[in-house]
Amino acid sequence: MPTSLQTTASTCCYCGVGCGVLIEHDGKTILGVQGDPKHPANFGKLCSKGSTLHLTGDLDARALYPELRLGKGLARSRATWDSALDHAAKVFAETIREHGPDSVAFYISGQLLTEDYYSFNKLARALVGTNNIDSNSRLCMSSAVVGYKRSLGADAPPCSYEDIEQSDCLLIVGSNMAYAHPILFRRLEAAKAARPEMKVIVVDPRRTDTCDLADLHLAILPGTDVALFHGILHILMWEDWIDRAYIEAHTEGFDALKQLVRDYSPTVVADLCGISQADLLRCAELIGKSPSFLSLWCMGLNQSTAGSAKNSALINLHLATGQIGKVGAGPFSLTGQPNAMGGRETGSLSNLLPGHRDAGNAEHRAEVARYWGVDALPETPGLTAIELFDAVAEGKIKALWIACTNPAQSLPDQSKVHAALAACPFVVVQEAFFTTETCHYADLLLPAASWGEKEGSVTNSERRVSHVRRAVQPPFDARPDWAITCDFARRLEHLLKPGLPSLFDFASAQALFEEYKHLTSNRDLDLSGLSYAILDNQGPQQWPFPAGAQHGTARLYEDGRFPTASGRAQFLAEPYCSAKEKRDGRFPLLLNTGRLRDQWHGMSRTGTAARLFGHAEEAVLSLHPDELRRRRLQDGQLVSLRSRRGELIVPVQADENVRAGQAYLPMHWGNRFLKGLGTNVLTQPAFDPLSKQPELKLSGVEVEKA
Ligand code: SF4
Repeated sequence: MPTSLQTTASTCCYCGVGCGVLIEHDGKTILGVQGDPKHPANFGKLCSKGSTLHLTGDLDARALYPELRLGKGLARSRATWDSALDHAAKVFAETIREHGPDSVAFYISGQLLTEDYYSFNKLARALVGTNNIDSNSRLCMSSAVVGYKRSLGADAPPCSYEDIEQSDCLLIVGSNMAYAHPILFRRLEAAKAARPEMKVIVVDPRRTDTCDLADLHLAILPGTDVALFHGILHILMWEDWIDRAYIEAHTEGFDALKQLVRDYSPTVVADLCGISQADLLRCAELIGKSPSFLSLWCMGLNQSTAGSAKNSALINLHLATGQIGKVGAGPFSLTGQPNAMGGRETGSLSNLLPGHRDAGNAEHRAEVARYWGVDALPETPGLTAIELFDAVAEGKIKALWIACTNPAQSLPDQSKVHAALAACPFVVVQEAFFTTETCHYADLLLPAASWGEKEGSVTNSERRVSHVRRAVQPPFDARPDWAITCDFARRLEHLLKPGLPSLFDFASAQALFEEYKHLTSNRDLDLSGLSYAILDNQGPQQWPFPAGAQHGTARLYEDGRFPTASGRAQFLAEPYCSAKEKRDGRFPLLLNTGRLRDQWHGMSRTGTAARLFGHAEEAVLSLHPDELRRRRLQDGQLVSLRSRRGELIVPVQADENVRAGQAYLPMHWGNRFLKGLGTNVLTQPAFDPLSKQPELKLSGVEVEKA
């Protein structure tokens, strides 16, 4: 081991488990990575993705210099930061003056650090005067946000990872934890090995590796979750496995729900969900008779046109059984991205404001405007991800700033998104990797610092804030995201509001954190007692952590009081509605998309490490053997996979884990198929009416010989 080897404690940049890492480096180059034994998310363990972080991020794939082009048909040329940001400020200022503030938009990312998010929010709302700032968290957690807020009064996951280990009954819905949140799954495996009496129920149309741990797997038909939850509640009520005292003391709206779920008898629900009545009854019995019950969910629930209803129907089960605010109990959404929580906290969805405030609430706008020292914040509702790219396609958005995300790969109906980006007059892409599909459309490419190269903070799925530390300098001209944003903002201020003191005079990420944290004072997520020094001295902390607190808060709602107007949690009585796209004669299969164990999102980072292709070399379509037989297809054959929106040529494999009438394709590939763009060329942009989260997991498709 070289004598100059240094170690810097930081966090993994992939999933919402938020594992602590020790970055090994020589001050210039990252040489290795270990799990941080002191970090309470992972206690030293790392999964295949985290443990290979140092092998990814190859310089050949990195954006290293600003690059600008002055015409759509031209190639980008290397530029200085001054000329690049001056040009961007000039174009944004002219566009805002000519077409108004809502003619520009920002599309940012759950991969950003909290300080990056905050700087973007302040830029959009306080300086530009638009709410057109949305994040790829719209594709990830926005249904959970709506679910928590409507049922419990605040966007606050109430549990801790320890509750998962201490629970008597776990319901895992629409989440392949074994692949998507591996270290948390390892903790669950260890807990079940130590306490075999712990029951695990997995609800997933597909039999995944997570099911290996399950006592019961309910392979429901895609999109029928609301019917399932109402059916479970029907049985809980019938058997008197509900907590009437809790309902009476701490909730509202139970009578309406009781009326609704009367119609969801076991016969009806088993038929709707395509499961046996015996399994349904067993599921309800496990939940109803367990001393503690905790549910975990992820994209399978959220990415749906009924995502908000699914979240509320699941939370109903916890309220009806009093299984919330106590050890081993509660509804617990698993955050997909490393800092989707930080984005929600800083207001990085178009309908939110910093400190879990709402952009549509005049009082909230006035509070933030006062704090920022501006006259007012914009009232016009901002566009959400799908709406935003529709507006780009319609020519309403004339300057678009994209940071740390790859919408040309990750948004549904990919062809439409590519056409929109091609037509947008000015596209800025702030990115660490020039290889993403979106970079192709950048008129201005700004090189961003990546993992191990920048400082800030992140919040993981259990509300735990970690200090993200820099180990090495970013390569060549790359800069931290917050620094790029603030530098641009100062130049735009000079053009739009000359002579006024700058709102973006931040010399460090820490300065941004110090300003931001006071906006959370006396809010449900109060972080005002935190500082980088406290995180360094006491380790990562769970919010709320108000000023003067000695430690964070492991569990919410232990006193049965909720942050609603009445102080009571709300039952939501919403009927099951079938999914928007159904099987029919032309598209007789329902396509589900999801993650592989060793790849992350659009593979801009994981795709640079050969070792991570050892688990799965390429995207393969999985079909039940009966579906192959019906179509006279062979295992491994190339097939044409078509939806109403596009076509791909992919290899197919027989897979007993996928039910007949369904299909499964990994989500990571953006443009590497023999024909077509990526997986999302097939998926549909229909979205939930409240959360505006698109239905990425359910699209009608057909498969034929290629
Ligand atoms: Fe990183 Fe998630 Fe793996 Fe932890 S579980 S090492 S945060 S990818």
